[in-house]
Amino acid sequence: MVISSKTLPDKTVERLSQYRRNLLICLAKGKQHIFSHEIAQLHHITPVQVRRDIMLIGYSGTLRKGYDVKELIDLIGKILDTDEGLRVGVIGVGNLGRSLIGYFNGKRSKLSIVAGFDANPDKVDKVYAGVHCYHFDKLSEIIARENISIGIITVPAEQAADVAEKLVIAGIKGILNFTPKPLNVSPHVYLQEYDMVTSLEKVAYFVKKQAGI
Ligand code: NAD
Repeated sequence: MVISSKTLPDKTVERLSQYRRNLLICLAKGKQHIFSHEIAQLHHITPVQVRRDIMLIGYSGTLRKGYDVKELIDLIGKILDTDEGLRVGVIGVGNLGRSLIGYFNGKRSKLSIVAGFDANPDKVDKVYAGVHCYHFDKLSEIIARENISIGIITVPAEQAADVAEKLVIAGIKGILNFTPKPLNVSPHVYLQEYDMVTSLEKVAYFVKKQAGI
């Protein structure tokens, strides 16, 4: 099995993460092999797309049995995870920041939220779902000390650009931006924008079309 050192397309990386989640469920149910059309059905995509994604990571199944579920999970793990895991900080420990901390911790052994940051003194030095909240002024110091490489931005939109700039200066490698403010960061930092409003408006558009409204 050869693991490709080439950078995979964004959408393939997203699908690999989604495949792994469902493959883990299949494995827990005792399923040892799976065909591309079964994976495709779970994800509402074509078997060709599944085979293309899995070929890109240098794996192939057999005609008779399909893919070995455990092997595929392990291989996706090798592609997506690092051995030691990556450490994450949440900037803005408000409604969304606290929900993410509460939801995410414990879900992925190779990704852990290890610190929160907030500008509100009432939140500083409090612990949310086991995660300490530091004052935003300590961002650089804590990022270096805790070896944090990913920052999740959950501050009000008007603060997002300033927070992103400080994260980049502090040496962060990846940013997940939950605010509606699109950001510009150095090309050395991987930026993912998550826009809940667009997702909901997309659903609304298709509901409208289907209902003929
Ligand atoms: P919130 O007001 O509850 O929380 C924002 C937090 O950021 C507060 O604790 C505030 O003290 C802190 N903050 C403000 N400026 C800061 C700074 N410069 N540095 C560090 N901390 C700072 O807001 P929320 O509902 O959690 O939303 C946060 C962001 O996420 C917003 O941009 C919002 O549009 C977006 N968002 C929220 C939701 C949601 O479900 N709540 C959904 C999608 C997107």
